Amino acid sequence: MESKLPSVGTSIFSKMTGLANAHNALNLSQGFPEFDAPDRLKSALADYTTAGHNQYAPSPGVASLQQEVAALIARKYDQVIDAQAQVTVTAGATEALFVAIQSLVREGDEIIVFDPAYDSYRPAVELAGGKTIHIPLYAPDYQINWQDVSDKVTAKTRAIIINTPHNPSAKMLKQADFKALKALVEEHDLYVISDEVYEHITFDEQPHLSVLRDAALLQRSFVVSSFGKTFHCTGWKMGYCVAPPELAQEFRKIHQFVNFSSFTPAQLALADMLKYEPNHVDELAPFYQQKRDQLVAALNSSRFKILPSEGTYFLLLDYSAISTLSDVEFCQQLVEEHGVAAIPLSVFYESPCEDRVIRLCFAKESATLIAAAEKLCRL
Ligand code: PMP
Ligand code: GLN
Repeated sequence: MESKLPSVGTSIFSKMTGLANAHNALNLSQGFPEFDAPDRLKSALADYTTAGHNQYAPSPGVASLQQEVAALIARKYDQVIDAQAQVTVTAGATEALFVAIQSLVREGDEIIVFDPAYDSYRPAVELAGGKTIHIPLYAPDYQINWQDVSDKVTAKTRAIIINTPHNPSAKMLKQADFKALKALVEEHDLYVISDEVYEHITFDEQPHLSVLRDAALLQRSFVVSSFGKTFHCTGWKMGYCVAPPELAQEFRKIHQFVNFSSFTPAQLALADMLKYEPNHVDELAPFYQQKRDQLVAALNSSRFKILPSEGTYFLLLDYSAISTLSDVEFCQQLVEEHGVAAIPLSVFYESPCEDRVIRLCFAKESATLIAAAEKLCRL
């Protein structure tokens, strides 16, 4: 059969985790927490299952979870939204991104993405008949030049996908970025898909500038988040999309034929968690900042150049003082010979990227971070 995605192979995350397991290496590659989900969340899931909440949820989501998400948005971003009409619960952010893209993209449409780009954007756009237009950003600052973005807009441009805090660069968009983005989408009548899965993991008092803070921008946007990142439960594959009612309606037409509805007891448990333990969300940033600082301190005496991590649970290292290998080869060597699995960045670019940069995930126990840093300091 002729493949619909001829250039797609196994994801780098599956590949590196496979190699980490095969070589018994410390796995700082694929982004997932080494620690467990909160006790309340796990026991609520068990309780709701035992109490018989095991049938289909309403397709857009369980009402209590939609309401808790809206309450969180009001508290964090000072924005009042209509929970019922605007929040759709999905099977992870991955489904939300896929469905948002299917809702928007028509045959021949162009969608602007920034490289390094999360791996699901391009295949989702191509399956919808569109084409991604890539704007490469490079180490060390991954700064967007908005004139470059403006130059790439054509009559076919339909949307821009942004991701802040950004995976894998760990950068956050600033006020000036939002000002430029807003001007551009208004001028050319574009839409925005805003991937904000790391919205609560931000460092050094820098606020997360969500699209949700801006009522006018939200009118043209699908905002995507993930409970997996926020509640250390990536395996549950629970997320959501917030959009203005008219866009949410289109989104829901497709969502009902992708998974119809998401796991009922998990929705109820997440609603309880948001309601009864609101501190969890607030404590996420200091929790991860301490991990970032611990890893940075442990790597200080290494020959790696440490790039700033403003948010997410990722840290980038420039290894150009250590090796001339490509990043893919360097990661292969790291996992096979030095017992640490990392992610090469060049795989997230459309055109060749010569940066010698790798990504480490620091959502790990202290002992793992220290052990990995000790190995990396020997290089
Ligand atoms: N977007 C980004 C930037 C991510 O890093 C991830 C997961 N690592 C996702 C989307 C997908 O999230 P989920 O696991 O909830 O599908
Ligand atoms: N988003 C995670 C990462 O960046 C991986 C998710 C996946 O494996 N699909 O590492």
